[in-house]
Amino acid sequence: MRWKEQLLTLTPYKPGKSIESVKREYNLDNIVKLASNENPFGSSKKVLEALQTAPASLAIYPDGYATALREELAAFLHVNEEEIILGNGSDNLIQMISRALLHPNASTIMSEHTFSQYKHNAVIEGTVIKEIPDKDGEHDLKAMLEAIDEKTNVIWVCSPNNPTGTYIPEERLTRFLDQVPEHILIVLDEAYYEYVTAEDYYDSISLTRKYPNLIVLRTFSKIYGLASLRVGYGVANRAIIKALEPAREPFNANSLGQLAAAVAIRDQEFVQFCREQNRQGLAQYYDFCEQRNLKYYPTQTNFILIDLEVDSDEAFQYLLERGYIVRSGKALGFPTAIRITVGTKEQNEGLLSALSDFLNKN
Ligand SMILES: *Cc1c(COP(=O)(O)O)cnc(C)c1O
Repeated sequence: MRWKEQLLTLTPYKPGKSIESVKREYNLDNIVKLASNENPFGSSKKVLEALQTAPASLAIYPDGYATALREELAAFLHVNEEEIILGNGSDNLIQMISRALLHPNASTIMSEHTFSQYKHNAVIEGTVIKEIPDKDGEHDLKAMLEAIDEKTNVIWVCSPNNPTGTYIPEERLTRFLDQVPEHILIVLDEAYYEYVTAEDYYDSISLTRKYPNLIVLRTFSKIYGLASLRVGYGVANRAIIKALEPAREPFNANSLGQLAAAVAIRDQEFVQFCREQNRQGLAQYYDFCEQRNLKYYPTQTNFILIDLEVDSDEAFQYLLERGYIVRSGKALGFPTAIRITVGTKEQNEGLLSALSDFLNKN
């Protein structure tokens, strides 16, 4: 077969190890997974209740327009329904945008250490990829601007950034947006938006009013704790949404996901609770790093990247054998760091105690 050549150079996304596989492999009863930035508090009870009484028919296709969820989102975000596009997770939106705008005669710009799916999809589309080295875990926006050429169609901006956790302060972001030519789509991926507590964080939704070439991506997978149901959304002006819609599979957001997401938005108390717990959990990690003199990036997310100054696969393996799944920094471009999702207080204590043993041994 005549596959796209570039496809043969790719490997499938390697997700964090699953709890079940680790249980079996290491014969452990208790596994704590702090690898994929999932919410340790699960999801809102209201969502679980709503799913119990969900309309029963699995034989009926989902509402392709996601009417109820769309209305709920539009009201919550104070935008029009035509300014929203739904995704089967925000991964799906990244895929749609790539499909719509990237091709062998185009180029795309991203930070070197950022979410892997931008590059992955760009490779599949056979486009020219410009990865710009970051500055201390932050996007180098000036260098990203300088990388623009006449073929540039998409610039990916992840803030707060995965895997570093850093964010772009408002002033720096708007200065960047001011300088990007209007024919280039800027994708602002805010998967961790709801975890942010920084004061100089921007209001991205209102920025989509000011900048006609900006799309904001958010997800129900992280703080809302609905990763398994795969719902993400994009917000942009009508023209962008209208152009993207044909690249969307008609039934990409499933019925249970739509229902769960619509109910989840209404429970902002749960969101606030998780954000506060996350701040307290992060303080545990910050204290540990200060005591141990470990380098880390201050983070606006529910994960932290810590430089252990030893081979990250070794640390990963040590923790794994003690029942803690984290993310080795190897595949993330940080070969001596690990990325840990902030868990519950007890989970964090357990992990830090195991990590402490590991560091004492080294
Ligand atoms: C987790 C994550 C996503 C994907 O989320 P889904 O909605 O589950 O597809 C997108 N972008 C970033 C930066 C992420 O960390």
